Amino acid sequence: MKASTSTASSSAPVAHNALPPPSTASAARSSRIAPHSHIKGLGLTPEGYANVESAGFVGQTNAREACGVVVDLVKLRKFSGRALLLVGAPGTGKTALALAVSHELGAKVPFCPMVGSEVYSTEVKKTEVLAEAFRRAIGLRIKETKEVYEGEVTELTPTESENPLSGYGKTVSHVVVGLKTARGTKQLRMDPTIYEAILKEKIVVGDVIYIEANTGAVKRAGRSDAYASSYDLESETYVPLPKGDVHKRKELVQDVTLGDLDAANARPQGGQDIMSVMGSLVKSGRTEVTDKLRREVNKVVKGYVDQGVAEVVPGVVFIDEVHMLDIECFTYLNALLESPMAPTVIFATNRGNSLVRGTTDIVSPHGIPVDLLDRCLIVKTDGYRREQVAKVVHLRANIEGLKLGEGVLDKLAEQGEKSSLRYALQLLTPASILASLVGRTQIELEDVGEINELFLDAKTSAAMIGDSTGSSEVMKS
Ligand code: ATP
Repeated sequence: MKASTSTASSSAPVAHNALPPPSTASAARSSRIAPHSHIKGLGLTPEGYANVESAGFVGQTNAREACGVVVDLVKLRKFSGRALLLVGAPGTGKTALALAVSHELGAKVPFCPMVGSEVYSTEVKKTEVLAEAFRRAIGLRIKETKEVYEGEVTELTPTESENPLSGYGKTVSHVVVGLKTARGTKQLRMDPTIYEAILKEKIVVGDVIYIEANTGAVKRAGRSDAYASSYDLESETYVPLPKGDVHKRKELVQDVTLGDLDAANARPQGGQDIMSVMGSLVKSGRTEVTDKLRREVNKVVKGYVDQGVAEVVPGVVFIDEVHMLDIECFTYLNALLESPMAPTVIFATNRGNSLVRGTTDIVSPHGIPVDLLDRCLIVKTDGYRREQVAKVVHLRANIEGLKLGEGVLDKLAEQGEKSSLRYALQLLTPASILASLVGRTQIELEDVGEINELFLDAKTSAAMIGDSTGSSEVMKS
């Protein structure tokens, strides 16, 4: 056992506080969620009716109300074995709705979005990709009593040195942290990984922090979720605090997903010598998570739950472009939906009748086999009117801190109505870059005009090339 925790099964080689730093997959997930940061929920009244504009949503009232019913079913545990299928043209808010459902299910509910075509990789089996997404959509809230050092930060001084691995560039070699504890102020020379945790937690002088005695995880006090940091520093030398400053704290909470636990326990856990560092770099693209390892993790998780140390938090897995999956994946999804720890499953598609991939002659609504379709509640999203596009563009511009000159909002709304809401939103960033190139902080009509000369929306480009792709299958907005 790598971590010193009060686990139920001491023989299982499973650690929850040996979590890896954010992977490229989780970075990709965050970048997928970023365009929806204005969406805070479904924006429904207590009776379940959608306010026309609420929680970041504009319009799409029928779909939002239908999603609200699904949220109720999930909360009543009456949705197991089933899935929600969102059907509508590109950019009509299907991903936004799925994210809103996860917000409605609870503040720290995991949301794991993926695109159907992600299953096609030369390295990993299709079913593995699906299994991993499902595991990442199941959270585990671990509550523990831990030994912590507590004190107010009086100084934070990172010391830079040459990077010994690359031979160039600077790296933080250590950080000096001044900590005022109940017994006076001390200067601590801390490991650079602590510095990463300090940056991640946005800790500044004056904050009261906890340093977890066993792992060195750092946390700012006063947050709702006590321990978010997950850095595993095995060295015992980096927090040279005298024992007298140790405080017992109850119910420190750490939110992880089963996917995090799988990955952390699949990672080579050797020492910190150069060969093992290189070894883990080489293998860092994907770590091998076997069914056996998942069973071990489940066993330990069950132990935590039985002891009352942890609580399972089922989240949401969202599979966009579900028509890209093939018959093998669909069969596997049927099985995943049946598993006792399944998250809420939401599919989305913009296809009408399509061939089920992997078959030669099965045509089915949305390219989904009827047995899986039978398990789905289907909700349709509608296209947006110009004034609705304008409202969403206005919301996004505000969130991204972009100023719009006269007529710009109208122009973008007109284009969004003609092509799609997403197209209008996507023009914002390049237009702001053009504006900044000529020294303006505000996007003007000329920037939008210039962008339109450079780029085409999908409908215009298809019309110019000629429609030879059978795109009649794609739902019209
Ligand atoms: P695709 O089929 O291409 O995946 P989609 O239907 O999932 O598209 P989204 O990605 O959810 O569409 O929407 C595009 C952008 O518009 C996102 O930034 C989303 O948050 C925003 N958006 C969509 N609908 C609404 C709405 N009704 N209110 C506010 N924002 C919205």
